[in-house]
Formats: sequence, C-alpha cells, structure tokens
Amino acid sequence: MTGRKVFMNFEVTDTSHTLADYKARGGYQAIAKALREMQPEEVTKEVLASGILGHGGAAFPAGRKWGVIKLNDGQPHYLCMNADEGEPGTFKDRWLLEHTPHLLLEGMLLGSYALQGRHSFIYIRGEFDLAYHRLADALEEAYAAGLFGENILGSNFSCDLVIYRGAGSYVCGEASAMLTSLEGKKGYPRNRPPRLTVQGLYQKPTVVNNVETIANVPFIVNNGSAAFKAIGTPKSPGTSLVSVSGHINTPGVYEVEYGYPFAEFLANECGGMLGGKALKCVIPGGISTKVLTAADIMPLTYDHHSFVDAGSQVGSQGMIVVAEGTCMVRMLQVMMRFYHHESCGQCTPCREGMGWLEKISTRIVQGGGAPSDIDRLYQISNANDGTTICGLGDAAGYATVGILDKYRHEFEYYIEHKRSMYDGRLEVLTDD
Ligand code: SF4
Repeated sequence: MTGRKVFMNFEVTDTSHTLADYKARGGYQAIAKALREMQPEEVTKEVLASGILGHGGAAFPAGRKWGVIKLNDGQPHYLCMNADEGEPGTFKDRWLLEHTPHLLLEGMLLGSYALQGRHSFIYIRGEFDLAYHRLADALEEAYAAGLFGENILGSNFSCDLVIYRGAGSYVCGEASAMLTSLEGKKGYPRNRPPRLTVQGLYQKPTVVNNVETIANVPFIVNNGSAAFKAIGTPKSPGTSLVSVSGHINTPGVYEVEYGYPFAEFLANECGGMLGGKALKCVIPGGISTKVLTAADIMPLTYDHHSFVDAGSQVGSQGMIVVAEGTCMVRMLQVMMRFYHHESCGQCTPCREGMGWLEKISTRIVQGGGAPSDIDRLYQISNANDGTTICGLGDAAGYATVGILDKYRHEFEYYIEHKRSMYDGRLEVLTDD
C-alpha cells in the first residue's frame, strides 16, 4: 500500500518548510531524544538495525557506512549530504529539499552526532534555486533556535553545517567527485580504494549519504528500528519516494511502501496511462537502469529484489513511463547525447566511448546507419564495463545494452528504412 508513512504524515502546504510547521509535526524530537538518552554508537546501531538501504542509487546499507567510522581515532569525521540529484527523470530529493528542509537538517544533526562530526556539509545542485533558498532559510532558523552551533540543546555536542552549491555537473553527484568539488577543485571522480570512509573530504573519514536516506533517520530514532522494519518487505524495509514522469496522467513524487504492486501504482498513483495508450516500457530508476518492458514490469512489486531479479534496479527512484508508439531509437540517441555531454573526460573508454555512442545513435536517427552499427553499439558499451573510474561509463553502457536487447527490431527497421517504424518521420536532433 502507499501513503506517507515515514515522512511524518507530511503534506505540502505554504508553510511546510518552516521551523514552526516542522515543530508542530513533532520535529526535532528525535535529536532531543538522541542527545538526552542515546550514545552516538546507539544511534548508529539503531540505523543499522533498521536495515535501511541508501536511496541514492547504489542501495548500500546506510548503517554499515556509518558503522565503519572509528569514533575515537583522533581525526575529524565529516558527514556530507549528497543533494546533487541530476539523474534524468529523478526529482524526489528536490521535493524533500523544497518542502521539508528541517527534516533534512534534523537528519544531518543525528548523523553528525552518531559520527561525532563537528562540521557537516550539504552539497546541493546549483540549479536548485528554490531548494537552496529554503534550505538556507531553514538553517538560519535552526541556528537561531540553538539547533546548530555550540552545545546543541544544552548538550556537550556541537556541530556546524555548511551548504555548498555545486555548478550543475552530473558527475559531481558521484560521491568522490562531489568531495573533490567541495574541496574547491574541479569535480573529478577519484579512484577507489581508499574508500571515502577512510580518506574522504580533506583526506579524512567521510560518510556521504543521499538526501532521502538522511530524511529517514528522524523516524528511525523516534520510533525505533523495529517500527521501521515493520514497513516494507524483509529485504527492502521502509518506503521509497518515487518520482514518476513520462506518459502518465499524474506525474509527481509519491511515497511507496516497498512491496507495493507496480500495476496498482500505475493505476492509482500515476492515474493510468496518458490518453489511454498501452504501456510500452518503463525505465525504472533514472536513465542509468535497464529498461523493463510492460510484460517485465506489470507483475512486479516495487522493491529492490523484485527489480534486480527482473534484470534492472530501483536505482535513483526516478521512473520514466513510456507509452506504445514511442521510438526507442530516438530515445537512445537523446540519452547518449546526455552522457556524452556529462562525461568528465578522465577515462579513455568513457571520453571516447560516449562520443561514439552519441555519434552512432545520431547517425541511425538521421537515416545514415549501417546494420553493423548495432554490434558497434554493443561493443562500445561492453568496452566501458568495469574499465572506468566512476559509474558513468558503465551506466551509459547498461542503458544502451538494455534498450538494444529489448528493442533491437526497432533499430533494424530504422536502419533498413531510414525512418522510425512509428511515424515515418526522420528526426534530426541538434544541439539547439
Ligand atoms: S567514467 Fe567518465 S565521467 Fe567517470 S571519471 Fe571516467 S571519464 Fe569521468
């Protein structure tokens, strides 16, 4: 079933981003409870016991990341919220940033307390103007109320928070690139190991968490890990915010309990297909996840294991719903244009490969494709797999292989007839 379960029965209003509104919903009680009753290790233990999986795309258990930080090692520890959401089709973190910034600030306080972090950071996508201003205003309110700074709520815990605006580069959403950018350098991803929890920001132990992951922490501390685990499925506890776009009647952001049937989600939350068209496919978790056909996805429930078993992922929770009659050749070309533009250029397979994926898919769309181009697209995608510093090169390859595996016949038709099998129109995409 769906419904707001974790986000404090939260509804968007004109004042839902303010401190007064957040406190009226029980806000900042979790940090008060933690400072009063819990040692930092107990907060981490509770998050670990909740089984919460990260909501940024990789689905790594959040508590395990926190648990590797050694609290008394004499080093500073940094917590950094990754608010650089840039995956096409994914806009659920922005929704949280704009509408309930204090929930995120309380989550950052809890995480900073658990990690004994004296300075914490939020790295926010530069284009998120409203989100940035709401967050900055909320932080000012929180400082004025004694919720940040020295001796928070009369305790001996002190923490300062810095909000840093990125410049809107997709690759800066990759955790190591984000930290490099935060250090004031060009946002290049770094080779790992060392892990960021060993050498992260300023070479110190650092935990990077997604916005929604942090947003779950006040619920876990307030209600306990057992209450959190009672929601969702045993392997995917809790809920997920899903941003849905594409050919549906009611695009938007919905909180879904893991285990909710996709067919019901499409009918109830998404309002069904636009214009009553048939469902063709779904790109389930941002464009970096493999496409699922209607036959693949209709029997599934929305949770990590169900999607992985079907050959894809929940990913960044940005679902793109595609109706019958949509040309997958053109869709691939648009996607490759994006990846080519966003490649940072450090790794040869990605720098060159993204260019070729865009060039070949554009050639096909413009009617100049050859039958051998399909194999070339496969070869380039596979050459990226595991050979690059960050996941961008891999992601573009997964997206390409996913579409080719399921819709090869559309590419063959396009190459032979020099037009799409759907509308006969020769589409030429330019940079304009
Ligand atoms: S895979 Fe691409 S984006 Fe990632 S570091 Fe290499 S060149 Fe840059």
